[in-house]
Amino acid sequence: MRPEAKYLQLYNSLTKQKEVFTPLTEGFVGMYVCGPTVYNHVHLGNCRTFLSFDLVYRYLQHLGYKVRYVRNITDAGHLENDTDSGEDRIAKKARLESIEPMEVVQRYTVDFHQVMAQFNALPPSIEPTATGHIIEQIELIHQILDAGYAYITNGSVYFDVVRFNQDQTYGKLSGRKLEDMIANTRELAAQSEKKNPQDFALWKKAEPKHIMRWPSPWSDGFPGWHLECTAMSTKYLGTQFDIHGGGMDLKFPHHECEIAQAEACNKISPVQFWMHANMLTLNGKKMAKSTGNHILPGELFSGDNNLMTQAISPAVAKFFMYQAHYRSILDFSNDALVASEKGFYRLMDAVSLIDNIEPGNHSDVDVSSWRQSCYDAMNDDFNSPILIAQLFEGAKYINTLADGTIQLTQEDLGLLGSTLKSFLFDVLGLTPPEDSNQKHDHLKRAMDLLIDLRKSARDNKDFATSDAIRDRLLEAGIQLKDGKDGTSFSLKNPNS
Ligand SMILES: [Zn+2]
Repeated sequence: MRPEAKYLQLYNSLTKQKEVFTPLTEGFVGMYVCGPTVYNHVHLGNCRTFLSFDLVYRYLQHLGYKVRYVRNITDAGHLENDTDSGEDRIAKKARLESIEPMEVVQRYTVDFHQVMAQFNALPPSIEPTATGHIIEQIELIHQILDAGYAYITNGSVYFDVVRFNQDQTYGKLSGRKLEDMIANTRELAAQSEKKNPQDFALWKKAEPKHIMRWPSPWSDGFPGWHLECTAMSTKYLGTQFDIHGGGMDLKFPHHECEIAQAEACNKISPVQFWMHANMLTLNGKKMAKSTGNHILPGELFSGDNNLMTQAISPAVAKFFMYQAHYRSILDFSNDALVASEKGFYRLMDAVSLIDNIEPGNHSDVDVSSWRQSCYDAMNDDFNSPILIAQLFEGAKYINTLADGTIQLTQEDLGLLGSTLKSFLFDVLGLTPPEDSNQKHDHLKRAMDLLIDLRKSARDNKDFATSDAIRDRLLEAGIQLKDGKDGTSFSLKNPNS
């Protein structure tokens, strides 16, 4: 373990304060993060949540912890509007596209993994699926029924929130009181199978047209959405574990229900530290497909959208996200991203210089205390914007070293370089830009050759060859343009 590990503090949503992080088992961390419901392309706001926890995962590992990171895939049970009614999101997409639900799941799981890989996010240690854990979920329902906190109505099983609240507290994570919730509900009990509107489904009997169904002691049906996370976190991390994360929007009711389910079975609080990542807005407004204020990760990376003036690389988008703290709202806009890109390249250019700098016989800056301030930033609830400000400070040292204004000893130069590289590449997980200039130069020389060959074919009236060169280049996405000053070429956007 690094000595810095004992100073890590993180903000616990349950106690609403920063606390020193001490794992349940020394040297080991169990972390669960609610993963995506794979019925559509991953939302940029969800990417922010997963990248926030990628930073947590990477930094814990950097500190020397052995981390078991579990992030699930929701492939059944998540109904529209997050309530206990409506159609299953995956089944609905399958119906609309006339394909199997598992084709929907496969397509968007692959898409999700691709986007996460583009962002250079590490895969979790275990990525369990809801449909792969139906047996565990049924077993959990038995336990909750045996404990007296659930009831059966018409083949469905509901969690009895009022009964649970008599023995333990429902609402402690979101700070809601059950009495207030009951006083504020307008739903008529007569219209529902539930005793109380606050009760939530553990098992739902499937209607005849519902195609995603499994046998159970109560009915052919499917598990409630909240149940899978309790089943899978308990299975892989135990009845108590260190960190549970997710987006802010999951705090209520999803995480509140997870706590109630676990406490109903095990009588102990399942999670030491609850962490919630804040939302992402676009041009100051909520992102929504219906208003056009919406951008998919792929559209951001390709530049094929109406909201950005240029393509934004995944590394720059990630760097931009980390320039805000994970608990603050982050606003995406063209101007802010373009400004962030300049900063990203400034840092990367500085890092590429460091190996060519000659050491001096003394040090003009205190590299150790600069390095300490990088750890202080991350130990203060993963404060990446402060860390990045410190990395810019490090880049400034390199630039003044390069122009000879200051000098560092061999040892300090090594410490500056290793600290910058480990925070940029290992902790923030940024990828250095490829040498695009060199690539461009090779392309240009190959194109000059093809343009010359085409010209000589035309001069010899061999139009079959000259047309073939033009057409096959076009097929490859390269357009030739004949002008007064000769022929030029342009690359077509691969997504247009
Ligand atoms: Zn969950």
